Amino acid sequence: MRAFTFACQITNLIVQEWIDDDKYCATENEFQCFVCLACSRLHWMNSRLENS
Ligand SMILES: [Zn+2]
Repeated sequence: MRAFTFACQITNLIVQEWIDDDKYCATENEFQCFVCLACSRLHWMNSRLENS
């Protein structure tokens, strides 16, 4: 498991998600869907590009 943090575009809150290693994006061109804990919507993001 890896921690991934991003800034929610809707609420501007910093959200931390945990990702299983096998779901982690393999390349910087891949996107995966997160259920946002801040706004409860789905965000498509690349888990390699962290907003820290
Ligand atoms: Zn959000």
